[in-house]
Amino acid sequence: MSSPLCSLHWNRRFFLKSSAAAVMAWPFADMRIGTAAQRKVTLSEYPFQLGVASGDPLPDGVVLWTRLAPQPLQPAGGMPPEDVPVTWRIARDEGFTDVVREGTTTASADWAHSVHVEVDGLEPDHAYFYQFVAAGEKSPTGRTRTTPRRDAKPSECRFAFASCQHFEAGLYTAYEHMAKDDLHAVIHLGDYIYEGKESTKGVRRHVGPEIKTLEDYRRRHALYKTDPHLQATHLAFPWIVTWDDHEFDNNCAGDVSEEKNVSSADFLVRRANAYKAYYEHMPLRKSALPKGPDMQIYRNLPYGTLADFCVLDTRQYLSDQPCGDGTKLQCPECFDPQMTMLGAQQEAWLSEQLTRSPATWNVLAQQVMVARAKRPRNDQEVVSMDQWGGYDVPRTRLLKFLQDAKISNPVVLTGDIHSNWVNDLKVDFDDASSPIIASEFVGTSISSGGDGDLRAEAAAAIRTINPFVHFHSAERGYVRCRVTPETWQSDYCAIPYVTRPGAPCEIRASFVVENGRPGPQQV
Ligand code: FE
Ligand code: CA
Repeated sequence: MSSPLCSLHWNRRFFLKSSAAAVMAWPFADMRIGTAAQRKVTLSEYPFQLGVASGDPLPDGVVLWTRLAPQPLQPAGGMPPEDVPVTWRIARDEGFTDVVREGTTTASADWAHSVHVEVDGLEPDHAYFYQFVAAGEKSPTGRTRTTPRRDAKPSECRFAFASCQHFEAGLYTAYEHMAKDDLHAVIHLGDYIYEGKESTKGVRRHVGPEIKTLEDYRRRHALYKTDPHLQATHLAFPWIVTWDDHEFDNNCAGDVSEEKNVSSADFLVRRANAYKAYYEHMPLRKSALPKGPDMQIYRNLPYGTLADFCVLDTRQYLSDQPCGDGTKLQCPECFDPQMTMLGAQQEAWLSEQLTRSPATWNVLAQQVMVARAKRPRNDQEVVSMDQWGGYDVPRTRLLKFLQDAKISNPVVLTGDIHSNWVNDLKVDFDDASSPIIASEFVGTSISSGGDGDLRAEAAAAIRTINPFVHFHSAERGYVRCRVTPETWQSDYCAIPYVTRPGAPCEIRASFVVENGRPGPQQV
């Protein structure tokens, strides 16, 4: 999608002088943005109201994203039913005096006038600034960053991970803080949108009924993207995204709906709508382009030899939840060897990635909790059927593989459950002497669940029956990580309230994993 490198390089003197002459066909040459001569399409409102984003950084490039939507909540985002040319440029400096790549692409009406530019030819481990122009209007300037070369030995990687941002349930104060952090990237583990109908009980409102059509999903994504703090965090860092269930439908599993009366054929039509809208709104590469109801979102993003980020999809290929879903005692179906979380293809791919990885830290960025944590309920100990705990055979197979193949420092990042957990991962969670194989950091929600709490009593009860759990709380927030060749540190940033603005970020707990010594230790 990226155009060939234009030989023209910008410098400030040229930039200023050229404005009067308007000799350039390229719109940035004209400082009088918005003049009639510049407009191929006339839009009633500013087209970049959903902001800009970048994603999937590699050593030589990154994806640049935007979507033209002058009226975000109107049909087609307020765009006419025609394709629109969009120019882009990426520079070493915020003032765009040192542009290194630029080009023109098409915002196609078939793809909701979204733009995905896969820029290449950039320098590794380098910061860049980018901007779009369409219909004579300039987008905000985004900041992004390439990753170090595959064989480089970076001294650190700083990133944050997040999940679960129900728009009605709370404000995105977490992103207000994250946008000010000093990060190389942000990882989103799913529930970027929620599919439910509008409610009068939240602090903000969805628009309309439960989303099912392509237009519904597009409008819901657009609504979420109007949030200024979410936009600011996209603007500030490249994102690495994967979905969970709510981008499509609550607790979906493969082609099986949680509702009993939905045929698989109908459910796949809806899935195609959900996946297409997701692609349209995320800075994803062409490799993720959906084909009907199928979309490959699992992928590996290396960070030099320091870390490999295997981004997983535990929804699209998931076997139907055992025992009718819910949180209950483990039933025989939990031990059925036919059950799968990742599907055979993704599981084989993951094994190969991990086996070949030269990285010190091997990260699995995924959705649902791997640790088989039991919850006390009355006098029973119950397990969520919608997590790896319900899928005993694939969970044991994964952990046994990490152990047998001696994968270097596996770390699992998890979202989904609107609470923080820090876990040791082992092959046998019932055996206290079973060795620790990996570390799991479960991050709470950005906003889902509304104002959270420490839940100290519940945490104590959970830890009593699950000795491999080191920390649990149900505050809102996100997790900030700093990874070096020697240590991995995860800081749990707690946002005490989200139903009114202005909450601080309080570091509630910090855990360190030492290279070569699996298991998180509180610091
Ligand atoms: Fe969620
Ligand atoms: Ca979820």
